[in-house]
Amino acid sequence: MNRRIKASLMLTIFSATAVFANPCVKNIKAQTLSEAQKNKKDFRLVLNKKVKSIGATAYEYIHKKTGARILFLKNSDKNKYCTISFKTPAENNKGTNHIIEHSILCGSKKYPVKDVFSEMRNRSLYTYMNAYTLPNYTAFPVGSKNNKDFMNLVKVYLNSVFEPNFLKEKNVFRREGWHYELNSVNDELKVNGTVYNEMNGHANDISDIMNEDITKSLLPDTQYKWNSPGKPDDIATLSYKELVNTYKKNYSASNSSTVFYGDVNINDMLSYIDTNYFSRYRKKKLPSSKEIEKPFKKKKAVEDYYGVGKSDTEKGKTYISFNYKLNTMLDKETNVAFEFLSDYLTNSETSPLKKAFKDKGFSNIDIGLCEDTYQPILSITIENTDASKRAEIENIILNTLKSVVKNGFDGKDIDKYLNRYNLSTKESIYKSYAIGYDYAQCINRSWLYGGDPLMYLDKSDVMNKIKKQYNNEYLEKLINKYILKNKNESIVVLKPKRGLLEEKERQFKKKLQKYKESLSRKAVKKLVADTKALTKWKNKPDSKEALAKMPSLSIKDLDTNFTPIPTKTEKLGNTKVLYHNIPSDGIAYAKFYFDFSKLPRDKYIYLSFLDSLLGKMDTKNTDHLLLAQKIQQYTDGNINFTPDIESDYKDQNKHVFRLKSSFTALGDNVSQAFNLYNDIVNNADFSNKSRIKEIVEEKIKELKMDLEENNIIGMAELEKFYSEDDNLNNEFSELKLYKFLVSLDNNFDSKWDSTEKELNYVKDVVFNKNNLQVSFTGDSNTYKTFKASLKKFVNDLNSKQYSDVEHNQVKYEKTQAIISQDKLVSVMQCGNFKESGYKYEPKMEVLSKILNAYLWNKVRVEGGAYITVFDISNRGMAFVSMSDPNMEKTLKAYNDSVSYIENFKATNEEMKNYIIGAIGNNASYSSDPSAQADLTDKMSMTNETAEDKTNLYRGMLNTTVDDIRSYAKVLKAILDEKYYVVDGNGDMINQKPELFSRIETIEDLLK
Ligand SMILES: [Zn+2]
Repeated sequence: MNRRIKASLMLTIFSATAVFANPCVKNIKAQTLSEAQKNKKDFRLVLNKKVKSIGATAYEYIHKKTGARILFLKNSDKNKYCTISFKTPAENNKGTNHIIEHSILCGSKKYPVKDVFSEMRNRSLYTYMNAYTLPNYTAFPVGSKNNKDFMNLVKVYLNSVFEPNFLKEKNVFRREGWHYELNSVNDELKVNGTVYNEMNGHANDISDIMNEDITKSLLPDTQYKWNSPGKPDDIATLSYKELVNTYKKNYSASNSSTVFYGDVNINDMLSYIDTNYFSRYRKKKLPSSKEIEKPFKKKKAVEDYYGVGKSDTEKGKTYISFNYKLNTMLDKETNVAFEFLSDYLTNSETSPLKKAFKDKGFSNIDIGLCEDTYQPILSITIENTDASKRAEIENIILNTLKSVVKNGFDGKDIDKYLNRYNLSTKESIYKSYAIGYDYAQCINRSWLYGGDPLMYLDKSDVMNKIKKQYNNEYLEKLINKYILKNKNESIVVLKPKRGLLEEKERQFKKKLQKYKESLSRKAVKKLVADTKALTKWKNKPDSKEALAKMPSLSIKDLDTNFTPIPTKTEKLGNTKVLYHNIPSDGIAYAKFYFDFSKLPRDKYIYLSFLDSLLGKMDTKNTDHLLLAQKIQQYTDGNINFTPDIESDYKDQNKHVFRLKSSFTALGDNVSQAFNLYNDIVNNADFSNKSRIKEIVEEKIKELKMDLEENNIIGMAELEKFYSEDDNLNNEFSELKLYKFLVSLDNNFDSKWDSTEKELNYVKDVVFNKNNLQVSFTGDSNTYKTFKASLKKFVNDLNSKQYSDVEHNQVKYEKTQAIISQDKLVSVMQCGNFKESGYKYEPKMEVLSKILNAYLWNKVRVEGGAYITVFDISNRGMAFVSMSDPNMEKTLKAYNDSVSYIENFKATNEEMKNYIIGAIGNNASYSSDPSAQADLTDKMSMTNETAEDKTNLYRGMLNTTVDDIRSYAKVLKAILDEKYYVVDGNGDMINQKPELFSRIETIEDLLK
């Protein structure tokens, strides 16, 4: 549980996959002089500053009439973003702001369709489109590389936030928020609604409960004590009137803050926004908020519970968190220093806090800084422990920090951490898949509280101060003030409770039953009538006139050429080397691909095990502690090994086996990083048995937490049926590794010798100079250094010859249910069309766009599921729903897709939009150099050329309604196979046991 990430994980309308459209730049009409003059009249430029750290110039404008604020980060990035935010302090747990966030994207004055978000998703080349409810504001970000498309998205989003239809249409609130559902007088009364279901999906999420308890305990007199996204039982008490009033209070031009990013014509934008929106509003008072907590006289302690299965154990499942209130978000220096300290204290095996806990037998410790509240919170959390250990844990924290303060900091350590910090900051810019939105979030951290908007975009001043002042007790004073002597502290103990969820559900059902009984016959009949009316409204398609008002692109706006990155291919002995000479800001990315096709299927599990040992166990030259330090010092902290099996692009019957490993380093550190990598791969040493047992035990704990929490078992179980490759890939599933390790751990002494033999065998087959391909991304000087090290590395690899082996398919049971501690279910079905004799065609991508829209309507809008996905690859197709209140109904919707496609109708305009959406989805090209190298390397290994990619896009262009209808038989073939997995609520699953050949609980699976 990484609090830093989880806390900002917020709530997405739809977690879209990273999609990048090919750049296609057509100039927006040039700005006229009179417009520029006009902007000067309406906006005041209050800031104009270069931001070196991100290569941009910042302009801040204040709208004279309303006080609305606009910040423009100007650079040459074609991937333009607009994020408009409103301060929305919570006043209770009813999720009002969250339901407003959803409702806003459900039609507006200019765009009167029932679901603006889904309509735009189907026809746009968006690189990003979403909406978020955070603890103190709501944000609406969009991004696109295409100028016309970007303008369309901005227009639609602006009209949605300022003139939404939900203010007049109560059905939007009932659909997106909550409503009573009663289909006939004698039915059981239920509650349904998208946000209601979404939050039910989070109801037993340990990190969510923990975060809520922490903020509530430390900031009890502020707005932050409320759960801003809402709690299901409270959501079901919100009235439409409250919703409308809250909107009216918060959504004004005066309360808006907008961030533009990239190669945007800002004058056009300002003029558009002023004319169409801002100029029409008066200046309005900002919503009042309570952000500051008064100082505590003494620390607080809180106890809370989460649910575990009725027969599950409660031992070793408690979470204990020590939390400290820092100053405010405007005190950048303290916050950034604590970001650094968090890293310093826990990042590696030798970090002070991590080491202290490990020495006492605790393994899962996490430290994080939550910056979503005005007064940020530092939390140290121990996972999977027992409440009885609270005092011991507190002592470890205090004693360790006291000794850090007493002994001071080592200059070398500081350098090491600053070096890595430098690398990871540079890297994170590339890695972000919504860079313009990331910057907007970063800006809002200070801007929303009246601070300098650029404050958190550059942290080098604080890093330099740490470097200069570390031996002046600079960091020691901070630890003293904010941890050791801080009275503003809370301790949260989160304990497991058997059957808690079932009990809560029973009570809620009883409450609903009682409510129904209290109603007159007439009132009950009205509920039935209301339910029917809502269903009718939901099912009524948008009118042609309404759809025609949605902006769209034309085919000629698209660029259907795939442009590969510059790549030079060289041979070094038997090793093929791809060199990608693209700008990477001084970072070097080295990637190694070992072909493991000569490893038999029954040995894959040892490869999986080996991957979790490498880099963590000793080598013949270096013990694991020193190794951990060096990994932190010379790389970005991650040297991973990941196996993957895919098909050859031209010959689907041929598998491509790749064990991918990599390191990322600053150019100056390439040879040290490579030495380290060489040491890990070529000098692996299995003789330190006690260290290996330790790694096994840690890995078991880590896997168990993952498997219990994240609904990943169901996905992995389904994957087996998706394609022949995935049938093989399933040997690397987390569940299989977990079971293997538990069995090894239980009989470690008797099993170790034979296991070690297998590991050595696997190592020889895989890390072999006959099956290596390499890629390098970085500047040409660094490449020279890299090549010198590569020569030595290849020489050190073994060269034994192994013969070819068969990789057989395994037959599995087709239908399966997995019961977890969830209020709702995930319903997943897939199939492999190759099995039924069909071949992948580019036009199927358009089918995918159409089926995504179908699922959104049938399963999300009508059924209430939070997430719906239809996925297609060149091997198979999959239907997925998550946080879904229905099981049979959803499976039926999957089956009904056949007749929907058989009878599919669309106008030429609609087909054109689907085609544009499909090309937008596929013409993906990330701006991250590492991701670009990954894609190019993969294409090289699976024999896919740039021409193939271009043909793929062009192949979608003339898809017709008849083409789509012809895929009904493919869908039928897949669905008739009945490969499905349901994961979640036990009551729902146990009511229909006949649907499954196997029903298991997560506890059983993890025994
Ligand atoms: Zn939501």
